[in-house]
Amino acid sequence: MRLGADNLTMLYAVSNQPPTARRPATVLQRVQSRPVVLSDTLELSDRCMLAPATTPLPVNDDLKLKGDKPKLTDKQRLDLTSLEANQQRMVVGEIKADATIMAALQDWGSRTEAQKLAVLRRIAALEGQVYHFTPAPMTLDRTMAKGDYGAYDGDARTITLGAWGLADREPRELVDTVIHEQLHALQHQRYTAMKAGKIAPHNPLNAQAREWLYNSNHYHAFEQGPKAYRQQPVEAHAWDGAGAIVDAIFGAK
Ligand SMILES: [Zn+2]
Repeated sequence: MRLGADNLTMLYAVSNQPPTARRPATVLQRVQSRPVVLSDTLELSDRCMLAPATTPLPVNDDLKLKGDKPKLTDKQRLDLTSLEANQQRMVVGEIKADATIMAALQDWGSRTEAQKLAVLRRIAALEGQVYHFTPAPMTLDRTMAKGDYGAYDGDARTITLGAWGLADREPRELVDTVIHEQLHALQHQRYTAMKAGKIAPHNPLNAQAREWLYNSNHYHAFEQGPKAYRQQPVEAHAWDGAGAIVDAIFGAK
């Protein structure tokens, strides 16, 4: 869980702990040098954040050369919203049609840790099929503190889940974390494909990938303002997508 030399090395962790408690001084300095939105009072029980870093976050030269922040048209946004709503419905349909998953979700407390992880991997596989990306491998981290749910490591392209959570967290929350972190893996794969010229310029997915890449290079950490954190494109996509799916499976909260 570190930032490396590559431009795309982002890590998004979900935590309900104050992130400053385990950030090295270099990261704190970087965050403090940015404007903090003091009026931002939106409360979130958990959040994503950049990994502890020992080097400054690199600026993506490709997009820097091309200049401004990508701007999607209203039509592109409508198309993407419609596409994502369909994908969310399809993931819900696939999960609900999977007897193994549904039986486990309804009988979570009696399942072993290995069985729970297998079910979460199965959910990630269905998510990958519907969204057309390769789910990041998921492993348990036994050193992850209680309150730290999981993280997508863009350097290793893996997801770690706090092992404590498989014993202590509700299945709804675990599924939410898995789908959320896997959507960060999707974003990473999508803007990597876009940079490689594999998404046609006229495709709204291209504009979306540019927006995600730009956002990843101008990421708002939670402590810079919860609203800015929650509304930035990569987090809005992950929170809204996972939220819609778990609401449809478990019922709206
Ligand atoms: Zn996130």
